[in-house]
Amino acid sequence: MRRKLVAANWKMNGSSAANAQWVASWRGVAPPCDAVVCAPFVYLPQVGAGLAGTSAQLGAQNLSEQAPGAYTGEVAGEMLLDIGCHWVIVGHSERRALYGETNELVARKAARAIALGLKPIVCVGETLEERDAGRTLDVVAAQLSAVLALSSVEQLAGGALAYEPVWAIGTGRTATPAQAQDVHAAIRAQLARGDAAAAQRTRILYGGSVKPGNAGELFAQPDIDGGLIGGASLVAADFAAICAAAA
Ligand code: PEP
Repeated sequence: MRRKLVAANWKMNGSSAANAQWVASWRGVAPPCDAVVCAPFVYLPQVGAGLAGTSAQLGAQNLSEQAPGAYTGEVAGEMLLDIGCHWVIVGHSERRALYGETNELVARKAARAIALGLKPIVCVGETLEERDAGRTLDVVAAQLSAVLALSSVEQLAGGALAYEPVWAIGTGRTATPAQAQDVHAAIRAQLARGDAAAAQRTRILYGGSVKPGNAGELFAQPDIDGGLIGGASLVAADFAAICAAAA
């Protein structure tokens, strides 16, 4: 039986004052569920301290594929562990589209996180053009294959995968529960071809305009094991309501 997991992706949002308010609000409403809050790098220590003793763990939104050294502007996984991070998002579609992260680089980042003991949330998903061309399952399978070339299903099961159709991110347009379930089932089948038992344990999150009002029906799907939440995670009460739908 997989426990549901709900992760907040704050993206490049927040301030010291706003984070303090968020955390104070979360501490009052946090439901008992597996939650992760992925804050911008500079706020990780503040948010980590605020989450202490609640049901949420700390996550980052990216890491370097390299070990510490001469990589100006990068952040090493070792540093994330050092400040108390347990999780890290890898291969978010914004990093793929805006910062040129390829399937191979995403795979290296996931492998680096795993090697260090950080739990990756590896994101996959198709664009609208790819969906309209009927290529959704091929695109997602290729993204996942690259990751599986460097990491085993057993290793990925220690973290999570996130199916995030690009056309549903920040657009207010959510995949229907059936559309999402179809892709989640295909992802699990691909994992199962490598390791059936580990595939059954792997949490596959859905991301793309999840809100308190639609979380319940998405999370009721057999292969949807929680969510990766962008916009709605910026309001602690909304994130808590989504977590409650998962719990
Ligand atoms: C995301 O960026 O991971 C995401 C799912 O965003 P939103 O919930 O705003 O669509």
